[in-house]
Amino acid sequence: MIVGPGNVLTDPADTLPYGTDWRGNSAAAPAVVARPGSTAEAAALLREAAAQGMRVIPAGGRTGLAGGIVPIAGNAPVLTISMERMNRIRMVDPIDMSIAVESGCTVEAVQNAAAEADRLFPLSFGAQGSAMIGGALSTNAGGIRALRYGTARDLVLGLEVVLPDGRVLDDMRRVRWG
Ligand SMILES: Cc1cc2nc3c(=O)[nH]c(=O)nc-3n(C[C@H](O)[C@H](O)[C@H](O)COP(=O)(O)OP(=O)(O)OC[C@H]3O[C@@H](n4cnc5c(N)ncnc54)[C@H](O)[C@@H]3O)c2cc1C
Repeated sequence: MIVGPGNVLTDPADTLPYGTDWRGNSAAAPAVVARPGSTAEAAALLREAAAQGMRVIPAGGRTGLAGGIVPIAGNAPVLTISMERMNRIRMVDPIDMSIAVESGCTVEAVQNAAAEADRLFPLSFGAQGSAMIGGALSTNAGGIRALRYGTARDLVLGLEVVLPDGRVLDDMRRVRWG
């Protein structure tokens, strides 16, 4: 098993919350919820889902208000990949003012890691204690400092991305191009 037995949910009573957004939108329970602990595990999950013809929905803090994590009833079975275990701060560099974090870090955890290095991570909004960086980037979240510092995408220097077929695109950078 790719992620270990404790990190796979299949009982609809357990999976339904992962297909329900903050406003209570839900249509169908994900068939499977898996919680990878590493990029390699996430990539293996996507390879397996592609091989089995499953739809895949990444889930962050599930604070989105637009139904992005909600499976569509009647479509192919959904594998929801919850990023909650990928919550490590990989690096903080106060000199070049960069921070590398896994996508399951909450926005607030990233703020705190920056603050410990006497730096400001400016993304800030009401759901920051639950919303995760992956979800914030996916939705290009704004918040109370967006006018001064931009929205989530303006804060990104580089990304590591698991593609739908399971390949990993490593585009992690610490400098801004263009
Ligand atoms: C009280 C409250 C206040 C809010 N205030 C604001 C605000 O001021 N500004 C604002 O912009 N939004 C706000 N929101 C909305 C919400 O918090 C943001 O959209 C947030 O960015 C969602 O993050 P999440 O981790 O909860 O994502 P989720 O709800 O889990 O997912 C949202 C979307 O992102 C996708 N996704 C999640 N993780 C990944 C990943 N790792 N890779 C690829 N796709 C991924 C999901 O599939 C889904 O489509 C607020 C919500 C609440 C409840």
